[in-house]
Amino acid sequence: MPLLLGAIADDFTGATDLCNMLVRHGMRTVQLIGVPRGTLEVGEVDAVTIALKSRTAPVKEAVADSLEALDWLRRAGARQIFFKYCSTFDSTSEGNIGPVGDALADRLDAPIAVACPAFPETGRTIYMGHLFVGDRLLSETHMAHHPLTPMTDPDLVRVLGRQTPRKVGLVAWPTVRRGASFIRDRLTERRHEGCRWAIVDCLEDEDLLAIGEAVADHPLVTGGSGVAMGLPANFRRAGLLPERGAEAAALPSVPGPAVVLAGSCSAATLAQIEAFREHRPARRLDPLALARGAELHEVVAWAREHLPSGPVLVYASAPPEEVRRVQAELGRERAGAVVEEAMAVIARELVTAGVRRLVVAGGETSGAVVKALGIEGLAIGPQIDPGVPATVTIGRGPRLALALKSGNFGRRDFFLRAFEVMP
Ligand code: ADP
Repeated sequence: MPLLLGAIADDFTGATDLCNMLVRHGMRTVQLIGVPRGTLEVGEVDAVTIALKSRTAPVKEAVADSLEALDWLRRAGARQIFFKYCSTFDSTSEGNIGPVGDALADRLDAPIAVACPAFPETGRTIYMGHLFVGDRLLSETHMAHHPLTPMTDPDLVRVLGRQTPRKVGLVAWPTVRRGASFIRDRLTERRHEGCRWAIVDCLEDEDLLAIGEAVADHPLVTGGSGVAMGLPANFRRAGLLPERGAEAAALPSVPGPAVVLAGSCSAATLAQIEAFREHRPARRLDPLALARGAELHEVVAWAREHLPSGPVLVYASAPPEEVRRVQAELGRERAGAVVEEAMAVIARELVTAGVRRLVVAGGETSGAVVKALGIEGLAIGPQIDPGVPATVTIGRGPRLALALKSGNFGRRDFFLRAFEVMP
């Protein structure tokens, strides 16, 4: 089967979220970490998502990386391109959603692209072009104070309008609720009015499915992972995608010793550590000792000793007052870097020692571990908890089963249950 959907995601966890959505809706999906250098065999898949770090990169770099990803996906045969960004439309007046979308549209000769970050399941809805998080306008949420992409304007037509010289129109909810053919007609109208972008309203999953159906023949679709929900059905209707059911999430089994590495200090992660400690050995890293160059090899030796009896946990995670104390001593950046570097070394040494199953807690921590292990891509499997799938590595190196969990995700028993869901 040839590749159907090619996606470009502006960050790593966003890419995983999208892949998880596609697998749940019947597409076999692989996530690539950056544009592959050299040859990479992705296997028999229906969708490939290339995870970039382009959300807050300089505009020029974000555009260049996205076009490189586009070229790779088209060479791989993708029939439709999806540009994935955050459901809170994280961006600034300079970009990067507008400039990246414009560049992709030009290369694909796309007459108009929808922009729909809505994800009703997580409370992100759009009405009259205004983005809501739960019952608040976007600009009245924590996103107004985001350090890199403060979102102080909830009107997405206006927000996107500042990022592109092209005309941005709206397909409003009274049209969306009437279904796919009405949305399609309104998009044609907007195109005739000179719009190259259309923000599309969305209040519930049914709207996502209708929007998905309406853009079946668009070369480029942009949005959050929500709007991708409607795309697999298009390929099925066209006879290109068989009904796969649970088979879409099938992964090869990866036996071997298992570890949990936790660098996230979120409340959810701290509770998950407590739950794990009740059953299995756990060892805490002291960032101040690490900064002095101590502790690392002892911890690796400790983990190796306990591995034969089941999963072990190594964590740096600490409650806020403890994190503040460490940051006061080392500085915020150095504290983070010391812990991330330690996690990278521990992951590498334990994989060399035979570990094949890893759960990693923390977005930045996951990034550091994935990089240290030289992982090129992940085949996406069943969901462990909302937004966190089990995965198996593809490409060079030993095959590993991985679960990468960003901060606040996962229920209390996540660390133990993850190993039951992982292949
Ligand atoms: P999350 O997904 O919860 O944001 P991240 O891994 O992205 O988790 O970020 C957590 C950051 O905190 C990382 O840079 C990590 O190295 C750092 N960190 C972890 N433990 C400590 C600690 N005890 N003191 C200071 N910083 C820490």
